[in-house]
Amino acid sequence: MKKSIFLSFMLSIILEGCMMLGMGGMGGMNHNHDHGAMNPEKQSADSNIVRTGAIDLISIDKNNDGKVFQDQMDWNVISDAPGNCPLCKMTLKEVTLETAKKNLLDHNSKTK
Ligand SMILES: [Zn+2]
Repeated sequence: MKKSIFLSFMLSIILEGCMMLGMGGMGGMNHNHDHGAMNPEKQSADSNIVRTGAIDLISIDKNNDGKVFQDQMDWNVISDAPGNCPLCKMTLKEVTLETAKKNLLDHNSKTK
């Protein structure tokens, strides 16, 4: 009798410990995961106008007005809507696709 009470007591402790460990582990994982998932999300919300690689200006110009908003310091920061550069907080300047492309080419040839 005493033994079984002791056993169930131990069992509940072990189970609780496992649950806590499991939750802690999962919480930790979720926490890390959320951090990992949230940061790029947060950044992408902010910095999805920071273009990398081959910049497809035509695809950026979603409303097809032939104009995009480009940062005059970070040329790869291009948006189809007015806004501010997430990198230097400068107001994006409205430029034609051609100007944006020229800026990019000038910039790239300068820096690379
Ligand atoms: Zn900038």
